[in-house]
Amino acid sequence: MRSLSEADIRRSIVNGSRKDAANLVLPPTFADLVWEDHDVLSWRDPKLTERGYLITWRDDRPVGIILRVADSSGQRGRPSLCQLCQSLHSTDDVSLFSARRAGQAGRDFNSVGTLICSDLRCSTTVRILPPPEPLRPDPHAVVAERIAGYVRRTEDFLSAVLGR
Ligand SMILES: [Zn+2]
Repeated sequence: MRSLSEADIRRSIVNGSRKDAANLVLPPTFADLVWEDHDVLSWRDPKLTERGYLITWRDDRPVGIILRVADSSGQRGRPSLCQLCQSLHSTDDVSLFSARRAGQAGRDFNSVGTLICSDLRCSTTVRILPPPEPLRPDPHAVVAERIAGYVRRTEDFLSAVLGR
């Protein structure tokens, strides 16, 4: 993805107050981020640990949303699928995150929830090369396909939050 400055990130937040945007703590690795290894920048707030953020470019502008952990996911002991990157995890590694919707819908306390990798490191997870298999001999093609799916589902999630 194209790089973002700290100011870009704070300005990008569409579903929180100015105070929320001001309180946001950047990922500890921010200074050394390799932007091309990210399709979306998403991370858990190191200080406000129940919060996470998901920032991406949309129509040439950075758009960021605040996520809140609503719950660690449903049934204990059952593997769960991240709804953005589709990685399969044990229950503890996937959490139900909710995002307040942007604009009036959010002020009316409407939110959108989905299961996402608890560490929000989907961009990294989708890039792990799988072992070659007879039917999928090219691990890089598998990764490219995963990235495309991840980006598409993230855009859909963002559309639900933005209401457009
Ligand atoms: Zn994920």
